[in-house]
Order: sequence, then C-alpha cells, then structure tokens
Amino acid sequence: MERDGERDRQGGAGPNAAQVEFWNEAGGRTWAEAHRFSSLIVVTSGYHMPRSLAELGRVMPDVLLIPYPVHGHRHTEKWWQSLGTLRVLVVVARPQGLPTLDGEAELSALRRSLASLAEGGGLEVRVLERPTWRAFVEALSSGPYHIVHFDGHGDFGRRCPSCHRLADRDATACTARLERGTLCGRPLGASPPQGYLAFERPDGTADWRSAENLTAALFRNPEVRLAVLSACRSAMVGGGPLFAGTAPALIGMGVPAVVAMQFEVPLYATVAFSGALYTALAFAGAAP
Ligand SMILES: [Zn+2]
Repeated sequence: MERDGERDRQGGAGPNAAQVEFWNEAGGRTWAEAHRFSSLIVVTSGYHMPRSLAELGRVMPDVLLIPYPVHGHRHTEKWWQSLGTLRVLVVVARPQGLPTLDGEAELSALRRSLASLAEGGGLEVRVLERPTWRAFVEALSSGPYHIVHFDGHGDFGRRCPSCHRLADRDATACTARLERGTLCGRPLGASPPQGYLAFERPDGTADWRSAENLTAALFRNPEVRLAVLSACRSAMVGGGPLFAGTAPALIGMGVPAVVAMQFEVPLYATVAFSGALYTALAFAGAAP
C-alpha cells in the first residue's frame, strides 16, 4: 500500500531479492512465509517506522527486520511557507441532540490565527457550517487542502449497527432508547471500539463517523499535512487495536501531523489552544 510514495513498503532481501508492497502486516507474514524469507528490509516513513516494526515483529517474530526509514517531502520544515496559498478546510459540526458548543467564538479565533499563519502568502479558508458526511467528502475531493480543522464533538466508543447511535466503549449491548421508549438492545460484539467524530445528517441529527471512515476520506486528499481535531476524545486509544483512535488512525494512514484531544476538553480551552497552535506555527515560520 503506497500513498504519495510514503506508505508502507516492505522489501524482501535474500537469495531471491524482491520488492513488494503489502496492505497490512498479515499480508506481509503470508508473503514472507511463502518465500521462506528469514529477513526483511522495512522501508517506510521515519515517523511510521516504530509502528511498522512493532506490528511486523508481532506477526513474524522469527524474521529479522532491518529498518530503512525514508523522509518524504511533506515533512520538510515550515511547509506552510513554501505554499503559494495555504488552503484550510474547516468543519464546524453542531448536530442536534448533543451539548451546545459556541461555533462563532471558535471560528473567529480560528480565522485570526490562520491569518497570522498565512501572513506573506495567500490564505483560503473554506468553512463547512452544515457538514454532512457527503459535503465533507466532496470538499476533500474538490481540491487540495493543507490543513483540515474539525471543530465539534468526538467520542470513543462502539456504534450500534442497528440504530447507529454511539454506545460506551465497554458496552456489550446498545442502550439507546428508540421511539416510544423501547430499548434498542442490539449486541455490540461485532462493533469494536474506535474513535468517532459527529458530522450532521441532512435532518440535523448526529452522524457518527468512525476513524476508519475519516482515514478513507482523507486518503482522497494527499496534500493534507495537518489535521486538527478540536473534539473531545479524538486522540483517545484503548479497548481495541492501537490505531483505533481517531488521531492514531490518521497518523497510521500517513497524515504527517495530527493535533487532537485525549479526553473531554472545555470549549474555552479548545478555542485558546487552536489559536495558540496556529500562532505558534506562524511564529516558527517567521523565525530565521
Ligand atoms: Zn442501537
């Protein structure tokens, strides 16, 4: 699996030297066993290497893994200075039925700090204020964005395959109340816990989208260099595979930098943090 020349590439070295690409570690193990390789040169991005070695080592403990990290163009310092125009996609999601967040306060703070970041160059900010999932995917497909900023609700749990509501990560059955007060009760064993972000359905209710959905959508836009998730628990991991959390999943698919929240965060803190983040980037960019 390769993306922009930076995805996992594991090349085999041995009597029949070969270079192959795998979609995942299990595929690598099957291939290594089939060819009886006792060592592999692991070629992947430097920031991605620890994960690759850990996962490959787990599925093929008897194979000698030789790391060969590479560094892609997206990791050059101060990348925002080298762009003609900094393009930012801002998602402000406020679905009904979830606690109210003040979108205006965050948005105006965000615009100010982005303007300081883009000083000296162009800045295009597109704000999706009624972000359905479809609108988000279409926006990502419509042109290159360098920063994706999500402002809204996040959680880490299990999505009910029946009523699509989000249950606690430890829940074994859905506890949602349906129409007329009946309990959904659908077993959740087939829905492993992972990170979710709340987008909006056309009727305004929450459309919980998984880390898996998000990585698939961002895959359409290889120019994304920074994802900022101003949403509770968007960095949380646990109760499932290591990369089940929203932020870890994005890192796992190749977004070079992800800023996210580990736990629940009050709004004033996220506003202050987002402002400080972009201002700090702007300051770093202005430094000699
Ligand atoms: Zn349910």
